[in-house]
Amino acid sequence: MSEQTRYAISASWVVPMEPENTVLKDHTVIIEQDKIIDLLPTAELQQRYPDISVEALPGHALIPGLINMHAHSAMTLMRGLADDLQLSVWLNDHIWPAEQRWMGPEYVHNGAQLAVLEYLRGGITLFNDNYFYPDVTAAVTSQAGLRACIGLPVINFPTTWARNTDEYFARGLEIHQSLKGDKLITTAFAPHAPYSVDDDSFLRIRKLAEEMDIPIHLHLLETAGEIADSERDFGLRPLARMQQLNLLDTRLLAVHMTALNDADIETVARHGVNVVHCPESNLKLASGICPVAKLLDAGVNVSVGTDGAASNNDLDLLGEIRTAALLAKGFSGNPEAVPAATALAMITINAARALGMEHQLGSLVPGKQADICAVDLSAPETQPIHNVISHLVYATNRQQVQHVWVAGRRLLRNREPLTLDVEEITSNARVWQKRVGKDYVAQAGA
Ligand SMILES: [Zn+2]
Repeated sequence: MSEQTRYAISASWVVPMEPENTVLKDHTVIIEQDKIIDLLPTAELQQRYPDISVEALPGHALIPGLINMHAHSAMTLMRGLADDLQLSVWLNDHIWPAEQRWMGPEYVHNGAQLAVLEYLRGGITLFNDNYFYPDVTAAVTSQAGLRACIGLPVINFPTTWARNTDEYFARGLEIHQSLKGDKLITTAFAPHAPYSVDDDSFLRIRKLAEEMDIPIHLHLLETAGEIADSERDFGLRPLARMQQLNLLDTRLLAVHMTALNDADIETVARHGVNVVHCPESNLKLASGICPVAKLLDAGVNVSVGTDGAASNNDLDLLGEIRTAALLAKGFSGNPEAVPAATALAMITINAARALGMEHQLGSLVPGKQADICAVDLSAPETQPIHNVISHLVYATNRQQVQHVWVAGRRLLRNREPLTLDVEEITSNARVWQKRVGKDYVAQAGA
């Protein structure tokens, strides 16, 4: 391999995430095609790689590309449409009627593009999605050069995407087949929630996920109300029902997980279930609080997601882990709960582990994929720099994300996306503002 196919990124700090809680001062990452092949002190660069092309980023920290573990990307078009409401009212009276009216390939294309643009500018290089028209979201993501784990939705009610359960499965399997061998896009089953998916469908998902070797991405225990409803309808708490259906294992990405008692935490830990924490969505909908400190103490792998833009309302993972760290301290009464390095692990290495991709992603280690985010810490807002990891969690704004690479390919340069047209995406969003907004005002006023 000639020196020309390799390049180097030198930064004031590299936060590799493995080993944990480590900051390497004045280090350089060497990239060859899609992989990191070396990580060394910049002082040794000239001698070891004399002719290599170098991008020098003084004042920057290199961190792994961030991984958003729970997203409904196309819902960006409903950002701010209905706020300050209870989950059931928000879903039944606002979000689901709007989706019924507007959701289709064009809606998902424009909404997912807006989300992907927001992800990229916030340092997110992979998102775990759950939405209708997953083929459209996959295509948008591929075109932009990001990674995604695309959910194959299953829900017990008809949408324009599928008329019945059989059709949800058939369309999902077709998409899974068409994405086989794709280097950037993988799939997961995405049953909506225990209250909206029947036992037969769960059993079918269990069997297929095993055969296809893909994760199962599920909203679980979002609210305390879900428990009473499940006891009424199935005679079991949701977690006990999932256990009976043999769904509790390392394949499960259980999103939200509020309302957990100590026995539940023990069950989750024993089965190796991955918990996905969405603190801002849970706080905004007053759904409940996930006991993250207790889960971590029990050895559970916890990662973090933004949820959709309709319940957050930004797709900002750096903001999300700041909230996660602060909430864990306040909720547990222990300021040592979820320290900064743990919070950062939740959107990098823990997330990669949840997806079964820890051998390729989640840390800046030779042999792994070159998914890298460069954060400019030279702004006055992040001075002085006593502790880089502390700053990334407690003081940095996502606007400080300057450059992003995915699989060795540069996608963001000085905050300018290289594969997405900002003007076109923004103007499409304004078209939807007129369509959805006009309809919504008419309905609300009726
Ligand atoms: Zn969700």
